[in-house]
Amino acid sequence: MSTLQEKINQTIVDVNDFPKEGIVYKDITPLFLNPELSGEIVDAFVEKAKGKVDIVCGIESRGFLYGIQIAQKLNVPFVLIRKAGKLPPPTISESYDLEYGQATIEVNSNYIKDGARVLIHDDVLATGGTAEACAKLVEKCGGKTTQFSFIVDLTFLNGKDKLTPFATDIVTLIE
Ligand code: AMP
Repeated sequence: MSTLQEKINQTIVDVNDFPKEGIVYKDITPLFLNPELSGEIVDAFVEKAKGKVDIVCGIESRGFLYGIQIAQKLNVPFVLIRKAGKLPPPTISESYDLEYGQATIEVNSNYIKDGARVLIHDDVLATGGTAEACAKLVEKCGGKTTQFSFIVDLTFLNGKDKLTPFATDIVTLIE
């Protein structure tokens, strides 16, 4: 019997030099071809978050896929964190630095209630810049990030260092 970690490792595909030279892209989409494995992944995240969060925030776009399922199983609201310009008002935004240039993410400013305990979920933790900006956005709304979760942590990029000031509970299924 393979462990969940082994099954994920055997399923995710490394794509070299995508979207540009030198990057090893982790293609997680083969996970969605396997409903049984996807169910186990959602259950693993739910187990870690049970009783600890009031809201799940999913980061566009792959953070939506298991994120909404985690929220439904926890019976808590799911909130979309989107790239700038995709959500109708009222929104609140946060900008952050990329290797070249800047990016901005947004959330509906009414959806995260004061004092809400928030789980921020995405597929891959790389530099941590996106999830960090998301935690700042949650803070601006009056919420508190209490857990982060990712399928993959690219540990050599030390993304967790950016997140620990917000929450030390960082769940990753494979490294
Ligand atoms: P970062 O802000 O550097 O942690 O980047 C995280 C975001 O970029 C996530 O939404 C990921 O989906 C995506 N991402 C970054 N690096 C990779 C990679 N090597 N493979 C797949 N997705 C990645």
